[in-house]
Amino acid sequence: MSEEFICIGCGVTIQTENPNEIGYAPASSLKREDVLCKRCFRLKNYNETQEVSITDDDFFEMVRSIRDTNGIVVYIVDVFDVSGSMIHNLPRIVGNRPIILVGNKIDLLPKSTNHRKVEQWLRKMAKEAGVRVIDTHLVSSKKGTGLKELTHALENHRKGKDVYIVGTTNVGKSTFVNQVIAASTGMNHVVTTSYFPGTTLGFIEIPLDDQTFLIDTPGIVNRHQMIHYLSEEDVKKITPKKEVKARVYQLESEQTLFIGGLVRIDFTHGEKQSFVCYFSNDIPIHRTKLSNADELYQTHIGKMLAPPDAQSLATLPELREQSFKIPEANTDVVLPGLGWITFPKGNCSVHVYSPVTVPASVRKSFL
Ligand code: GDP
Repeated sequence: MSEEFICIGCGVTIQTENPNEIGYAPASSLKREDVLCKRCFRLKNYNETQEVSITDDDFFEMVRSIRDTNGIVVYIVDVFDVSGSMIHNLPRIVGNRPIILVGNKIDLLPKSTNHRKVEQWLRKMAKEAGVRVIDTHLVSSKKGTGLKELTHALENHRKGKDVYIVGTTNVGKSTFVNQVIAASTGMNHVVTTSYFPGTTLGFIEIPLDDQTFLIDTPGIVNRHQMIHYLSEEDVKKITPKKEVKARVYQLESEQTLFIGGLVRIDFTHGEKQSFVCYFSNDIPIHRTKLSNADELYQTHIGKMLAPPDAQSLATLPELREQSFKIPEANTDVVLPGLGWITFPKGNCSVHVYSPVTVPASVRKSFL
């Protein structure tokens, strides 16, 4: 770059080479007068969501103070995005405080879902991430499902101590805390977290009784979540609002499936089979021949293949290809923060293209 550009948001020197390094802006944005680095671009476009979010390091320092308290921890994960919302080594942060695991957004899973099985699976996932829990609950903060039981269990577990709420961004922490406030004040949607002043550590304290508090901590940003790379409009589209209906596509080998324009799955090897897709109903899915896939992508990205919209395209990291062998029946290919595809038959191979910061992974299906 011959001329030097400065981000009008934070003053960092702009670079156009590496989207994952500080100060990145796409070369096309340098034509504008008000050049913003990727971070400031997202801050501006997300405003509240991103402003309360902080980076992992800051989060660790802040939340670490929980280990010196005698409170208990409510750890919220999103059942629709478990891999994206797991906080690995949470105990390193909160010490040996008792942890209650809460799987939120249970309303998004198919009605036929066996909740007990999901609870067991969540506990197993948590254990694998190094988190041992004393209790597990499934709730829908939006619908209120399971909140009474959770509140009851909390009263038993906390034994008059403070309750710390932790979770990554977008798991529904605010929705949950607002429900607790509504239940304790009886004032639905009038008083929300913004009513309560933040502490010097950035925690928000909501009185549970005369002496103890429910303490809301800032959401941790997990860079593997798709939401951090998309426009506000696209975040709305990819965040499911109601029960996610399985959309089933029959694919032969040498065919390709596009999830909007965010993910491309090439069926490279295997017998004809169902790709059972669990994504927000607002993301269109397209099937095409593998031989047409490159051209379709080039011609229709941001239009028919959307999200991403034009705004997201400016910040979305490039797609990277990963190959997966799927030997077993009922295996999921998971895209953090977006959804997953179940392969009921297995015995096949796929190539998955997703934004480089949002790698796909494979798991045993839990439904
Ligand atoms: P936070 O970033 O963890 O504070 O998450 P928010 O409370 O802002 O919620 C993030 C998104 O998830 C919003 O679109 C909410 O409407 C949605 N959400 C929160 N709780 C639930 C829930 O129980 N079910 C469903 N379907 N959506 C939820």
